[in-house]
Amino acid sequence: MLDTQPAVHATGAKIIDGRQHAKRLREELRIEAASFQAKFGVPPKLTVILVGDDAASRLYVSNKSKACADVGIESLVIVLPASTELESLLEVIEEQNRDASVHGVLVQLPLPRHLPVHAVLERIAVEKDVDGFHLYNVGSLALGTAVFPPCTPYGVQKLLEAEGIPIAGQNVVVVGASNIVGKPTAMMLMQRDATVCICHAKTRDLAQFTILADILVVAAGRPNIIVPQMVKTGAVVIDVGINRLPNGKIVGDVDFEGVSQKASYITPVPGGVGPMTVTMLLANTITAAKRMRESQSPHLSVPSTGTSPSTSSAD
Ligand code: NAP
Repeated sequence: MLDTQPAVHATGAKIIDGRQHAKRLREELRIEAASFQAKFGVPPKLTVILVGDDAASRLYVSNKSKACADVGIESLVIVLPASTELESLLEVIEEQNRDASVHGVLVQLPLPRHLPVHAVLERIAVEKDVDGFHLYNVGSLALGTAVFPPCTPYGVQKLLEAEGIPIAGQNVVVVGASNIVGKPTAMMLMQRDATVCICHAKTRDLAQFTILADILVVAAGRPNIIVPQMVKTGAVVIDVGINRLPNGKIVGDVDFEGVSQKASYITPVPGGVGPMTVTMLLANTITAAKRMRESQSPHLSVPSTGTSPSTSSAD
């Protein structure tokens, strides 16, 4: 399905193989899921709610389901028509919140335009919010106490750690300030003692910031926004972007060929951050399942809207 990339670029940067790192992590998760099943007699379970028939979203949901099956997590996909009203969607979420056999609930984004995304995300029970998008979990992330770090930033952090790339004291520049990638990535790396700068579409002279980066994380959704002259020699370049060109090719945000000559490490697209994102969703689902069965953490005792079950009621 995906292009293959060489393990090491011919002329310079080490290519960070996200598929390999994801595979290794999934082996660990498979063991954790099996041990959960052995201990409690049920597998960890994730419910994914998809509203509408957006082709990309369907593909992402199907990939999540396959990834769940791969490590021994049960998954349930609920597909609702694009015309679904807010109240009906909220009721479906509530049913999953109440279902003690379900440990993780996520609503695939983007939603059809008539549905207010925050109202929907905030109805997911805090303790089942494996995407980490509920306000409570966003707040926990800001405080450095996240139980469910958002999956893509979590994947970026895991890639850096797995490669032994130091974070503390490094200059990190994040290009992109979205709520699901740019901002949480910046917060997570700042909490690991990096000095972090966030750039966005209104940043003047992007290059004056990117050239300072020891670690450059790019999540703008703009092909070739980062070219070699914007990158410091020896920088670590993490390309989160996924862009489909008119010819159908999938590329990131970074001029991979050019920047590979200057960087010390670089992630390819595809095959870099993408495989880690789904893997961290699996990790968060197993975390949710274990916490619901094994702990009564005060972190997760706050209900989302007063309607979700406490951790103990899910036992
Ligand atoms: P998004 O919500 O569209 O946010 C894009 C961010 O980039 C915004 O903050 C925007 O600035 C900024 N930006 C846009 N053009 C820019 C420019 N010319 N210079 C500097 N900043 C610019 O997108 P997202 O959801 O964060 O996703 C970003 C990319 O990552 C997309 O390609 C997406 O497909 C990809 N992605 C990949 C994964 C994965 O697993 N690999 C996961 C999620 C997303 P403003 O805030 O000023 O508008």
